Amino acid sequence: MHPGCGVRAGVANESMPANSHAPKPGACRAPAGMYAAQAAREYLICIYSTAAQPETMNFLTACSNIFFQHGERPHVFVEHGRGPYANTRAALAHFNLATVRGKKVLLKPNAGRAAAPGEGITTDPGVVAAAIDAFQAAGATVAVGESPITGVKAYAALEETGIAAAARARGCALIDLDARPPVVRAIPGARALAAIKICAEVLEYDVVVSLPVMKMHMHTGVTLSVKNMKGCLWRRSKVDLHMLPAAAGSTEKPLNIAIADLSGVLRPHLAVIDGTVGMEGMGPSAGTPKALDVVVAGADPFAADAVACALMGVAADQVAHLSLGAERGYGVIDLDTIEVVPGNWRDRASAFEPAPANIDIEFPGIEILDRNSCSACQSTLLLFLKQYGSAILDYFPAGSTLSIAIGSGHVQLADGTICLGNCTAVHRGAHCFVAGCPPVGSEILKAITGRTSLDSSKVNTTVKE
Ligand code: SF4
Repeated sequence: MHPGCGVRAGVANESMPANSHAPKPGACRAPAGMYAAQAAREYLICIYSTAAQPETMNFLTACSNIFFQHGERPHVFVEHGRGPYANTRAALAHFNLATVRGKKVLLKPNAGRAAAPGEGITTDPGVVAAAIDAFQAAGATVAVGESPITGVKAYAALEETGIAAAARARGCALIDLDARPPVVRAIPGARALAAIKICAEVLEYDVVVSLPVMKMHMHTGVTLSVKNMKGCLWRRSKVDLHMLPAAAGSTEKPLNIAIADLSGVLRPHLAVIDGTVGMEGMGPSAGTPKALDVVVAGADPFAADAVACALMGVAADQVAHLSLGAERGYGVIDLDTIEVVPGNWRDRASAFEPAPANIDIEFPGIEILDRNSCSACQSTLLLFLKQYGSAILDYFPAGSTLSIAIGSGHVQLADGTICLGNCTAVHRGAHCFVAGCPPVGSEILKAITGRTSLDSSKVNTTVKE
């Protein structure tokens, strides 16, 4: 098996859709046990030896990428200063989009949460609009799809982000990727994640474009085009990546290993990274918006992510899922190996505040009990407390401590603990329990106060990060 492609040379991969074509014999051949640098070199050979084989496009491996056309090194383009639409059109103009004529192109933005444009949480609708226009003008049939975090509905998120309006105005289809049954695929060579449930459309489109937001992430360091593909996993199966046991022989977080595993079978053909307004600090949803007015594009998503990392003041080799994927030859993150255009691209860099290693929420009188929760519950609780702060303490006797539990790892909880999220459901008989995955803020408020809204003048936003 080729370590850079997850595909046995000349043999149909078990992950491959029935109607796809195997790589040509010899096109992806590489010795086993290849070291990272050699893997990267072979990866490039693999890419360029098969770049003109559009019949292999519907399997998301480097071997089938029609956008590698800029020579021997992966190229990444940084466009800046003209707003999300013009930056994106300029970035896409570097690629020969004529290769998608007559093809089906799926745009996968970050619309995993229902958030307004400009908050740095979801992809700017101007970036999506530009991508739709560019691929439609090239003769492709374009759709926008998303499978959001648990507890969020795809169409609601696409509406709130402004992406739905941009798509409708262009006659572009919107897809709730969770609506149809998934396709289960094994991941050959996986170290943490043996199989995944992929949203069906992702395998049915000829080209998949990842359009993430440039964000810091409390669990994965950053979230960019590689991590954004997690939103192609079906419904709750995304949460499974947060619940994996430690991988044998590794001290790395299982989540990071799992994302690298995922990249073995689910890499986008093109990365278009939205740095219009990114997020620093407590990403992916509770941080601070950071405006850069840049768009980064590349056919190697690892290379594009590495350049975006550099713009954010982050070394890509310190981002575990990127370094693990690069070691396996799934992409290139060594900036010396990547051709970045324009040459003065580093002028656009502005260091992002990193996400804190541990969430440390200080609210007088509130104790957070977190055992094995995922970022969805953490950010829900964080945003809830940011919004309501000490106002909820008015509903308890003065001097008392309110204990809130999230996550699946609690064995015993003290009387009076409020249990949030389905992971705490085993305690529902003995404690106040708020269902949901994650629970909805208004339901948490109702459980605590008996009301679904509070006087905003009582808001206290004392959060320590
Ligand atoms: S209940 Fe909360 S911690 Fe558990 S999987 Fe759902 S969102 Fe994550």
